[in-house]
Amino acid sequence: MKETDALVRIQEIDLALMRHKRTLSDMPQTKKLQAIRAARKKLGSELSKIVGQRKDAEMDLEENERAHTRLEEIVTETQEKFDAEGTGYREIANLESQLTILAKKIEKREFQRKELTKRFEKIQQAERNARAMDARLVEEAEAQTASFKEQTADIERDVRMLMHEREEVAKSVSEDVMSRYAKAAKRFGGLAVETLSGNKPSVCRVSIPPSSFGDIRRGPDITECPYCHRLLVCDGMFNPGN
Ligand SMILES: [Zn+2]
Repeated sequence: MKETDALVRIQEIDLALMRHKRTLSDMPQTKKLQAIRAARKKLGSELSKIVGQRKDAEMDLEENERAHTRLEEIVTETQEKFDAEGTGYREIANLESQLTILAKKIEKREFQRKELTKRFEKIQQAERNARAMDARLVEEAEAQTASFKEQTADIERDVRMLMHEREEVAKSVSEDVMSRYAKAAKRFGGLAVETLSGNKPSVCRVSIPPSSFGDIRRGPDITECPYCHRLLVCDGMFNPGN
């Protein structure tokens, strides 16, 4: 391979590698996965709040149940005590008044239970919704990860091929030119080499005046552009057909 062709190809390879690098660091899946992670984090703190509320509601219901059961026991106990001991008018009046108070207390507990149950069910529904949402996010994250891996694999394969080709092509370029290329590539963000098309360098497009052609013609195949200072590949420019 001619050194000039090799140099031009190395630049092509390096530009392709730069594009791949940008693509990898700017994968849409990466952004989506970040958004999913943020959403799950937010959902997670909401869910732990909901779980706390649900546990409180469960305890309130248990407490209500215990109080209700105890009141019913007291009713039974009061009735039994009357059956065993009470016979007089005063005892009957006393029993009735006690049972009325107990009935009111029981009624109050039952009303409270309905309210607590309503609240509990509402919280349960919120918890189910949050868990379903989280499951959907996990599913979406898995899909994004799979798609990322698949697309990364294609790019990684291409990167390996390009790196291998670069190694081979670089064998045709002298150390001096490689080091000049490396410096220029750094300086010009990768676009370090230009070729001549007519009298115009391919990158800066500043026409080289006929008076300078002589110098370029007598000079090496790889020189420096007098305008932008990139490496200028000028072999073949004087060949017929060019
Ligand atoms: Zn130039």
